Amino acid sequence: MSDPVLPPLREVIARHGLSASKALGQNFLFDEQLLDRIAAIPGSLQDRHVLEIGPGPGGLTRALLRAGANVTAIEMDRRCLPALAELEAAFPGKLRVIEGDALKIDPATLFEGPYHIVANLPYNVGTALFTGWLSGEAWPPQWASLTLMFQEEVARRIIAEPDTSAYGRLAVLAQWRSHAKLAMKVHRSAFTPPPKVMSAIVHVTPGAAPAGVSMRMLERVTEGAFGQRRKMLRQSLKGVPGALDVLEALGIDPQRRAETLSVAEFVAVAEALTRKK
Ligand code: SAM
Repeated sequence: MSDPVLPPLREVIARHGLSASKALGQNFLFDEQLLDRIAAIPGSLQDRHVLEIGPGPGGLTRALLRAGANVTAIEMDRRCLPALAELEAAFPGKLRVIEGDALKIDPATLFEGPYHIVANLPYNVGTALFTGWLSGEAWPPQWASLTLMFQEEVARRIIAEPDTSAYGRLAVLAQWRSHAKLAMKVHRSAFTPPPKVMSAIVHVTPGAAPAGVSMRMLERVTEGAFGQRRKMLRQSLKGVPGALDVLEALGIDPQRRAETLSVAEFVAVAEALTRKK
């Protein structure tokens, strides 16, 4: 089946009166070639299930549908629903639109099998959802990959390596049992209206979870260590019972600071503390 001919996105927006709302963090993408490149990041989506958060007028949604995906899209701005209904009609049986706040909807209730998550979201919502998706105790998660637009500075924190100022809790969370990479930089001028800063798309796939590490324990350790990132570990981990003994047992110098520890070292500390409990 050939793709349906769709009206240009700018025309859809004008026809439905979809002026970008600042309160909803709306910055739209119109360049269909760029959107197709973004939809290609997860790999072939032919007949795969995709959860798109924040479809807005549906630019990225179209690209996902063109890639053959079965899309479930959650959008909280009612004004966008008529434009999305047109897309539903153009791709019968391939698009399901849910009106609501993605922060309040558990995606596990929407799918029976695996699904890919793709989103271009406002910064605060994107980060909250991202950390939630990475924080489940159960691993591997039901999602097969995450393809998410962030401010470039946040993307750099997600993929950061030790001994850099960008390295912190977000990097450890994103890397200890997942593979996170910067898939594409997106210039601010690609958006309407253009945001103040550059953006970048991060692609994350689940990896193997190290045995015997509780997510909650890893969070406690990274919270303590990076909560006072300028201090030595012997000071910043004082509040985590048993942590100083574990550092000694593992041969990690307590005079080091959080940002010098590799992800594997954080995992080793959390593993030893989980075992002690
Ligand atoms: N995907 C479109 C694009 O790339 O052009 C729109 C992107 S715009 C940056 C973000 C979209 O997310 C807006 O349509 C906004 O209404 C929606 N949104 C913001 N917060 C949301 C939330 N908590 N749940 C669902 N959608 C949300």
